[in-house]
Amino acid sequence: MKALVIGGGIGGLVTALELNKIGIEAHVFESVADVKPLGVGINLLPHCVRCLDHLGALDRLLALGIPTDEQALYTNRGQKVWTEPRGVKAGYQWPQIAIHRGELQVALMELAREQLPHSQIHTGHHLQDFRTTSDGRIAARFIDRRTGAALGEMDGDFLIGADGIHSVVRAAFYPGEGPPRWNGAIIWRSASYAKPFLTGRTQLGIGGRQTFITYPMSKREEDKGSGLINWAARFFVDPSKGFAREDWNREGRLEDFLPRYDNWRFEFLDVPDLILKAEKVWEFPMVDRDPLPRWTYGRATLLGDAAHPMYPLGSNGASQAILDARALAQAIIDLNDIDAALARYESERRTRTADIVLRNRSGGPEVVIRMAEERAPEGFADIEDVIPREELERISRTYKELAKFDVESVNA
Ligand SMILES: Cc1cc2nc3c(=O)[nH]c(=O)nc-3n(C[C@H](O)[C@H](O)[C@H](O)COP(=O)(O)OP(=O)(O)OC[C@H]3O[C@@H](n4cnc5c(N)ncnc54)[C@H](O)[C@@H]3O)c2cc1C
Repeated sequence: MKALVIGGGIGGLVTALELNKIGIEAHVFESVADVKPLGVGINLLPHCVRCLDHLGALDRLLALGIPTDEQALYTNRGQKVWTEPRGVKAGYQWPQIAIHRGELQVALMELAREQLPHSQIHTGHHLQDFRTTSDGRIAARFIDRRTGAALGEMDGDFLIGADGIHSVVRAAFYPGEGPPRWNGAIIWRSASYAKPFLTGRTQLGIGGRQTFITYPMSKREEDKGSGLINWAARFFVDPSKGFAREDWNREGRLEDFLPRYDNWRFEFLDVPDLILKAEKVWEFPMVDRDPLPRWTYGRATLLGDAAHPMYPLGSNGASQAILDARALAQAIIDLNDIDAALARYESERRTRTADIVLRNRSGGPEVVIRMAEERAPEGFADIEDVIPREELERISRTYKELAKFDVESVNA
């Protein structure tokens, strides 16, 4: 049985590792010739860390990233709304890991090179198109994206489109879909060398409509007694400003957002100071796509951002791609029939991830900050006068259940 995995991002590499582990000849095709550690921070929730542990990646991840031990949410006045333990401190058997996205991708690529034959990893191969052959298999054609040169055709028993938010596979299924949906907010992202805050391993969210999310993500820096702090500043802009096609590597300008954070100097964190310590800033419009009615056509299906791109809230972008890969492999093990397994994979994952896409549109678990700011615009003496404890707990618990990372489900 031979699988064509399109995309060597987080979702594609984990899929290839999962399929290889169950004896499938998995070929990965990555557009980029030389995978470099691009991007900034990403959070891996305990249920997906469990999957990565099963693939033998845990020690590498812990050598790179930070096991987050707390989530803390504050208003734009610096008032605490919610804190909760995270990862092992919260009773999970697996940590939550904050990690540099590019370092994670490179580590997974290394693992794939160790576990798969080299001849099955095809970098510099951009999927051009694919078709179902007369015997019901898949034939895919590739080009070198830099030169446009044809690289030939490869056939397989099934194909997984893990080719990200601009998926060629998805576009073949839904040619009229158009660009991703923008909600009018821009995210400026970067990482700064600075001392960590609060517990030293806190994932911190400040502000409800105008927000600042930040966490340390480098074990190397922590070991030196310092920190590499990932941060993302986000607010809604005048839509007439338009937006360019999202590009993870487009540079942003300090003057477009720093003035909005001028007075965000709190005893637990000086936000402007942290922003000013960054060497470069990247700008990204907050986009997703509508959930799809169907992921699988014949022997081709979608996975990760190709299937369900979502706002980067609630630490779910990479985590859900990894869970997709696990679900697909498990369906193949259980059913031993690729058509039935693709159907089960889709029925298990499509609605669940659609719910997260839609829930993230209304704010993810960080929504409690906006509630506090709206209910008490002048601040509060006690958060429980503004949002009762039970309501705070319910919101946190419901999101965990929705994204399937409540302690009971993960440890089961
Ligand atoms: C360069 C980059 C930087 C990112 N930085 C961040 C970040 O800082 N923070 C964050 O939260 N999320 C970031 N993301 C998104 C994040 O990685 C995803 O949301 C999540 O990990 C899901 O992964 P995925 O594998 O489904 O998609 P992606 O990570 O987008 O991976 C898709 C892969 O497919 C490849 N590809 C695309 N088209 C083709 C094709 N036609 N043929 C072959 N290969 C193709 C791409 O080069 C890419 O490697 C970034 C994505 C990219 C590509």
